[in-house]
Amino acid sequence: MTLYIDGHDYQYEVECLCRMFFSYKKLNTVKEALPDGESEYIYTKLTKNDSTTVLYTAVKLENSQAECESATVDNGMENYNNFCEKEMCRMLYRALTKLTGIRLRWGILTGIRPVRIVNRYIENGFSDCEIEKIFKEQFYVSDEKTALAIKTADMESDIIKRSGENSFSLYLSIPFCPSRCNYCSFVSHSTEKTAKMIPEYVEKLCEELKFAAQIVKAQDLKLETVYFGGGTPTTLSAEQLTTLFKLIEENFDLSGVSEYTVEAGRPDTITRDKLKAIMDAGVTRISINPQTLNDDVLREIGRRHTAQDTIDKYNLACEMGFDNINMDLIAGLPTDTYESFVQTVDKVMELNPQNVTLHTLSVKRAARLAGMADEVYREQHETVAAMLDYAYKRFEEHGYKPYYLYRQKNTMGNMENVGFCKDGKEGLYNVYIMDETHSIIAVGAGGVTKLRDCKRDYIERIFNYKYPYEYLGKFDEILSRKEQVTQFYERCKDNKDCCS
Ligand code: SF4
Repeated sequence: MTLYIDGHDYQYEVECLCRMFFSYKKLNTVKEALPDGESEYIYTKLTKNDSTTVLYTAVKLENSQAECESATVDNGMENYNNFCEKEMCRMLYRALTKLTGIRLRWGILTGIRPVRIVNRYIENGFSDCEIEKIFKEQFYVSDEKTALAIKTADMESDIIKRSGENSFSLYLSIPFCPSRCNYCSFVSHSTEKTAKMIPEYVEKLCEELKFAAQIVKAQDLKLETVYFGGGTPTTLSAEQLTTLFKLIEENFDLSGVSEYTVEAGRPDTITRDKLKAIMDAGVTRISINPQTLNDDVLREIGRRHTAQDTIDKYNLACEMGFDNINMDLIAGLPTDTYESFVQTVDKVMELNPQNVTLHTLSVKRAARLAGMADEVYREQHETVAAMLDYAYKRFEEHGYKPYYLYRQKNTMGNMENVGFCKDGKEGLYNVYIMDETHSIIAVGAGGVTKLRDCKRDYIERIFNYKYPYEYLGKFDEILSRKEQVTQFYERCKDNKDCCS
C-alpha cells in the first residue's frame, strides 16, 4: 500500500491515521503526485491558490472503486494549518472506514494522550458538553470513548493538582524477570541469562541513587512518589530489596512522599520474605499482575506460573496487610477468547483489588497478526472492543473509576490502556508520568530522567544506557549524564519564571 503526500506537510498525522487502518500491511509513503495505473493507493493533495486552498483525498483498495473527496478552505481562516490537517484526516477517515469496514473508536485521534486534549479544552473554558460535541463531531470519537476520556480527565486533573511546587518522583529500573513473556516490549532480561549480573547491578544502582540524592538535595527538590518498576523488581532477593529501601531512606527525604510503589508483577517472584521486606520499608502500593487467569493463555505467552499462583500470592499480600494492590490485565492476548477474558475479569472482580489496569495488546508484539486476512483482522478488532466494553461495565459496577489513560501505537483495535481504582486509591505516579506533571529522576538501566520546566511547558530527557551490561560497563558516563540535572535546574533559576 502506498501513501502519496502531495503538496503538504501533514505527513505525520496522515500516516499515523492510515497505519491505524492497516497496521498489518506495509505502508510505503512517498512525496509525489499519484501515477497512472495504481490499483491500490491512498492519495492526499493540497493546492494553495490566492485566497483558498483545495484539499483532495482519494483512496483505492484492490477490487474497489476509488473513494474521492475534496474541500475548499479559506486561506485567511483562524488556525488554518490545524484545520487543513484535521480536515484532510476527516476526509481520509470517511473513505477508509467505508472501504475497510473498520470503525476506529478514537476516530482521527492518533496521539497517546487523548485525555490531555480534554484537559486543554477545560483549561480554555470549554464545558463537558462542548468537549463532547467536538470529540464526536470533529474527531469522530465514539460515544463510549468520549465519555471515558471526559471521566478520566476529571479524575486526572484532581491528581495533577496534588503535585506540589518543586516536586519530583523517583523511578528505579530493575530490568530483570524470571523469564521473558513473549509479548514483552520492555528492556527486560531473563534471569536465566543475567542472574550473575544482579549483585553488581544493585551495587551500582545504590551508587547512582546516592549521586541523584545529592543533586536533588542541592536543588531543594521535594520527593513526592517513589516507583520500583522494570522488569520485575521482585526478581531481586528480599536482602537486595532491603539494601535499596534502606539506601533510599538514608539518602532521600521521604517525609513528603505520598506514594511508594513496588511492582511485584510476576507471582512466580513473590515470597513472604520479599513482601515483608516491602512492607517493612513503608511501601504503600504493589502490583501483582495476572494478565490473564487462563492457564492455557499463560502458557501461550510464556509466563511460567498458573492463575492459581496469582490468586495465592494476592491472598498472601492481603493477609499480610497490603491494602493498595494493582492488578494488570491484557485484552487481546494470543489464544484468549472473549469468553475466557470475561472469566478473567469476573475472577479479578471477586478478588477485589484496589486498582485494575487494563491494557490492550500491542499488535507489534503479536506477529501472528501479520499476514492475516482482512476479515479475520477486523473480527479481532471487534473482539477486543467487546472485551473492553465488558470489562469497563464490570469495573463500574464494582465501584472502580478510570483515573489515567494512554494509548500506544499498534494496539489491537487501536484501543487504549486504562488504570481504574477504588476511591482514594489512584496510582499517583502513573498520572504524573503520563501527564508529565513534574520531573521524574530515573535510575538504573533503561531509566529515562524527564526534567520538567512547568512555566515553559518544556521537558528535557536524560537517557541511561538500556541494557544492564551497558549500564555496568559505562557507569561513569551514567553519573556524568546525571550532572545535566543540576545544569537544568541552574538554568531554570536563571529563568525567573521557572517553577523552581
Ligand atoms: S513480566 Fe513484564 S517486563 Fe517481565 S518479561 Fe513479562 S512483560 Fe516483560
